[in-house]
Amino acid sequence: MTIKTPQSQTKGRIHSIETCGTVDGPGIRYVIFTQGCPLRCLYCHNADCRYPNGGKEVTVDELIEDIQKYHSYMKFSGGGVTITGGEPLMQPEFVLEIFRRCQELGIHTALDTSGYVKLATVKPVLDYVDLVLLDIKSFDPKIYHQVTSVSLEPTLNLARYLSDIKKPVWIRFVLVPHLTDPPHNIRGLAEFVSDLKNVERVEILPFHKMGEYKWEQLGYEYQLKDTPSASPELVATAKKIFAEYGIEVN
Ligand code: SF4
Repeated sequence: MTIKTPQSQTKGRIHSIETCGTVDGPGIRYVIFTQGCPLRCLYCHNADCRYPNGGKEVTVDELIEDIQKYHSYMKFSGGGVTITGGEPLMQPEFVLEIFRRCQELGIHTALDTSGYVKLATVKPVLDYVDLVLLDIKSFDPKIYHQVTSVSLEPTLNLARYLSDIKKPVWIRFVLVPHLTDPPHNIRGLAEFVSDLKNVERVEILPFHKMGEYKWEQLGYEYQLKDTPSASPELVATAKKIFAEYGIEVN
């Protein structure tokens, strides 16, 4: 059944949609990949998301109509809608409006963000977010900049703010051999996370090269060509460090 909610002609640009996502939040999720990202992560799987003018334009109404087709799957599985990217917070009004409409319909909302955003921009959006998936790509600021080409501080500021307002958060960290894997980097992140009061889950995402072909297609230089995938042993070592701070990693 499609429930009518007040119309919204708010528009935004998206890269794509995945209707049965299972890795970006709890349950089965309708995942919206927004277009545009200010970061330049060396391992980005969605390098074609980077420019804000790419992708396609859609209205919130169009998305909500489509989302409602999957409402029963989401409800049954404890899932919902996740907005990821790109960086969703490059289009804060669009994201706010989608989430506002989802919550009106009783649909769980998750925002996946790098946190590279001003707090004033994200605060109004957070009123309509049930869960934040916060990607902390490194704790050492130099490594963070090497990975992303931007600074770490906005992400840590957002993490602290989310802790202050007790917004549920999942922390995600991509473990890249010879890049984000120095023990001091993992230890720093584990210590930082252990001080937060709102973290429901910590995920280590082992680096792999599945996005490499996109870089080639786009004519970008893939700098991690010679970097191996993260081995189970490396992941186990990282988990052990988190465990020293009382954090169980998924
Ligand atoms: S934040 Fe995500 S979309 Fe943006 S460059 Fe990094 S991995 Fe790619």
